[in-house]
Amino acid sequence: MIEPSGSFWLDGALVPSTTGAHLLTHTLHTGFGVLEGIRCYRLDDGSVRMFRGRDHMRRLLESAAALGMEAPNDLDQLVAAGAEAVRANELADAYLRPLVYSGEPNVIFAHWLNTTHVAMIAFPWTGYSDRDRAAGTTATVSPYPRPAALASFYKAKACGHYVLSVTAYSDARRRGYGQAIFCDENGLVAESTGENVFAVIDDVVCTPSSASPILMGITRDAVLKIAGDDLGYAVAERDLTVDELYRADEVFTTGTASELLPVPEIDGHKIGTGALGPVTSRIQERFNALTHGRFPDTRGWLDVEI
Ligand code: PMP
Repeated sequence: MIEPSGSFWLDGALVPSTTGAHLLTHTLHTGFGVLEGIRCYRLDDGSVRMFRGRDHMRRLLESAAALGMEAPNDLDQLVAAGAEAVRANELADAYLRPLVYSGEPNVIFAHWLNTTHVAMIAFPWTGYSDRDRAAGTTATVSPYPRPAALASFYKAKACGHYVLSVTAYSDARRRGYGQAIFCDENGLVAESTGENVFAVIDDVVCTPSSASPILMGITRDAVLKIAGDDLGYAVAERDLTVDELYRADEVFTTGTASELLPVPEIDGHKIGTGALGPVTSRIQERFNALTHGRFPDTRGWLDVEI
């Protein structure tokens, strides 16, 4: 359950979090809108910072542009607005949900006739309560494919993409799995319903490339840099088959909300020993140290102070 914070930021001002949207809101009817998810962490020194806040807001603008939406705010304004929403609610470990949505009165296709709104919604967050960092979550390969021809479309974090995610996720849960992994229609692994997928195969940390219909995750990028540059693992952005995933030494997912999460079992196939693997665990530890300021932030990832 999400605990609603006292106020949201909407179109330039703080408003009570009970503020609703009009029932004719275009995005509500069509999914035509874009969103982000950003983590804020309380560092060991007591300060509160966004993790890669500017990168997330940049992706929000890129997602809006990909859909032909004109966001009324520039990057600096979005970063300041997000920080204000977190600060106003005195949050520390938090999740920030920026949302660019198309308003009323037109609900059909001519979105340009509507006002484009920007909302910043923040709430306390320390991770999914049902997803343990060490135990991870089981997964199944989803019967719902992601079209490979839409690889670039899926680079936008569009609201409507999540219809497929919610459908695949609920199908997986109904069948007793914790998560669903999308393939493209050629059977190549894409990503999970809300995370990128990694496999450790013969000491190489592998993940699908940008040619796959995936979101270019910011955690994915951080993990590639941590694994490759900082920890010295070989990394590869390449095609992955389901069969490779079943036989991998380790599989884990990456995302803002759940960070790095091991996948101990896929469709009944035990992955490696079925326990948290050494590579996943090392990357997880370094990621944790970085997000909490326990390791030098040489890349400036803790970029926005609240
Ligand atoms: N794929 C999808 C479909 C997602 O929704 C997310 C979460 N934003 C990710 C991957 C991971 O992206 P990030 O690491 O930027 O949170």
